[in-house]
Amino acid sequence: MSTTLNFLAQEYVDLTVAKERHEKSTDVYWYTPQPYWKREDMSFSRDEKTLMEPLMDVKSEGRTLNDILDESDFLISCLELYKNKAKLEEMDRVNYLIDHAISLKTRALILLGENISYDDMTDKFYNLVAPIFDYSKFDEILKELDDTLPGTGPLSDRIIDFKRKILVPRDKLPRTLTAVTQEFHNFAVKNMDISKYNMPRLGFKNLNGLPFLTIFYGYCYDRFEYFRYLGLDYPYTVDKMVEVIGHEMEPGHLTYFEMRMKTFIDTSYPEMSIIAQHAPSSAFSEGSARRSVYMCFDNSMDKLIEFERDVIFDLGGLDKGLCKCMDVWHRFMDISNYGKLEVERNLWDGVWSKTDASKFMEKYLIADPGKGSEMVNHLPEDDGHFVCHDYGRDIVGEYFSSAAENTDKQWKLYQKLCKSHMSMKGIKDKTYKVSLSGDDDFLIV
Ligand SMILES: [Zn+2]
Repeated sequence: MSTTLNFLAQEYVDLTVAKERHEKSTDVYWYTPQPYWKREDMSFSRDEKTLMEPLMDVKSEGRTLNDILDESDFLISCLELYKNKAKLEEMDRVNYLIDHAISLKTRALILLGENISYDDMTDKFYNLVAPIFDYSKFDEILKELDDTLPGTGPLSDRIIDFKRKILVPRDKLPRTLTAVTQEFHNFAVKNMDISKYNMPRLGFKNLNGLPFLTIFYGYCYDRFEYFRYLGLDYPYTVDKMVEVIGHEMEPGHLTYFEMRMKTFIDTSYPEMSIIAQHAPSSAFSEGSARRSVYMCFDNSMDKLIEFERDVIFDLGGLDKGLCKCMDVWHRFMDISNYGKLEVERNLWDGVWSKTDASKFMEKYLIADPGKGSEMVNHLPEDDGHFVCHDYGRDIVGEYFSSAAENTDKQWKLYQKLCKSHMSMKGIKDKTYKVSLSGDDDFLIV
C-alpha cells in the first residue's frame, strides 16, 4: 500500500518542482531529492533564484501551469479515493498530502490569474485564516512607546532615533553576527537531535540590502555544506539580528531542514524532501522557527533581553541602558507585523488603495513619516506572508504551550513535529496528536 502513496507523493513533489519556473519569485525553498548530493563543479551563480535551483533544473522543464492545475486536481481526487480505504496509521500522511496538493493547485490557479479572497487564499495555502486584528492595540503600543522611549520630541522622531541606537555598527557586525550564530547553534545542538557540524560557514560583504545569501555545496543525511554571506549593508538592529540568525538558521529553518532530510532518508517518503513556501508545512516552518527562538530563552522575554544585552549590545558597542526599552520594542515589532498583515489583506481584497495602505502605515508609525508608500511597494513577495509567519508563530506557540507544560517538553515536541506529517488544521484546533515517548503517550487527548 505504501508504494501507492509514495507514487502519489512523488507526483506532488514533481508538480511542485515543475511549477517553480512559473513563479513570480521563489516557492520551493528546500529540496533534497536524493540521499546524497554534491556540486560537480564550482561554476555556481550567486544569482541562482533559489538555494535548490541546481537540483531542480531537469525536473522543472515541460509542464505548463494548466498542466499542473489539471494534474494537481487529479492528484487530489486520487488521494481522496485512497483515503476511503486508508489504514488508521496512514491517515496523517494522507491528510498531509491532500492539504499540500490543495495548496499546490491553489498556487497554480493564482499564478493563472484567478481571483480569490485573501482569507480563502491563506486558508488553502496555510490552513490558516487570521482574525481581523484588534486595531486598538496599534494605539496602545504607541502610547507605551511614548512612555518608554528616550527623548522628548515627536514619537516618530524618537522611534527613528531608537532604531539608530540599536543598530550594530558595520565594523562590529562580523564579530557580533558570528557570536550570535554560534550561540544559537549551541542552543540547537543542546536541545535538538542534530549534527553539531552544521553551523554555517559565514562570510561578510555588501549584498545590496539583503540580510544574507546562501551558496549550497552539498549534503548527505544530516550534514549540509553551505556558505552563508551576511550583508554588511543590511540594517542589523538588535531585534533583526536575533530574527535573522535564530529564525533563518538554527534552531529555526536550518534545523527543520535537517530533521526533514533525515526523515526523508529514513522513510523514503518523497514529500519529506521538499518544502514549498505557499504550503501548510511552510506555515509550520515559519511559525515554529520564530517560536523556537523564544524557547532558547525558556519562553521568557526577560531572558531574551538579557541575551541581547550580554551578547549583541556588548559586542556591538551599544548603550546597554536601552535594554529597558527592548520589551516594548519587541512587542511593537510584532504588532507592526500584524499591521502589515492588515495592509496585505486589504490590498489583496481591493478594500484599500496603495495610498490608504501607506497612510495606515504612517499613522501607526509602522513606516517612518513619508516612507509609507515605499514600504507598501516593498512588502514581501510571498502571498499571505504575515499570516504564514506572524499568525503562524502565535498558532504554533499556543499549541506548544497547551500540549507541553515546560520548555524541555516543547523542544521534544518541536523535534517530533519536524519529522511528522504535521497538520496546521490540527495544530490550530489543538487536535493534532504527537507521541513523545511511546505510542500511547499522546500529548493531546
Ligand atoms: Zn523564515
